[in-house]
Amino acid sequence: MNQRVGIGYDVHKLEQGTNLIIGGVKIKSEYGCVSHSDGDVLTHAVIDAILGACCKKDIGYYFPPTDQKYKDINSLILLKNTLNIISDFQIVNLDCTVILQSPKLLEYREKIQENLATSCNISQEKINIKFKTEESLGFTGNMQGIKAIVVCLVEKLLEKNGAGNRT
Ligand SMILES: [Zn+2]
Repeated sequence: MNQRVGIGYDVHKLEQGTNLIIGGVKIKSEYGCVSHSDGDVLTHAVIDAILGACCKKDIGYYFPPTDQKYKDINSLILLKNTLNIISDFQIVNLDCTVILQSPKLLEYREKIQENLATSCNISQEKINIKFKTEESLGFTGNMQGIKAIVVCLVEKLLEKNGAGNRT
């Protein structure tokens, strides 16, 4: 069995008048994320799910928020860099959930899916994006924060018969 599963979870604080970026898409919203990078909660959870599946630690290990070179960085660049860290694995699929009280995100689904597929170098049909609210409960409910949860399946590439061969 050469398949492995990983989970990624991320939270960002919301504040009025800042940018809200989800999966590399700028969302029309009164509230945005407070973060060292672009605050892309979904892309950060995707990175952690991929690293988790490959047993390669977490996002903060490779892209520390204390490092000035990651200030305001587009998180899709971090996602592309993550693929170099896990070069002996192929992503099988990603199942993503974004939890935000408002605004509704349905109209952004395809663009988010496209951005993640391009950055992960996989087809869009291998990426599922779900949007949830927490029914006005808790910190997402009162717009203090946004959450994302991602599950990723990867497949280890076989070393014999040369690089790139799959099971
Ligand atoms: Zn984050």
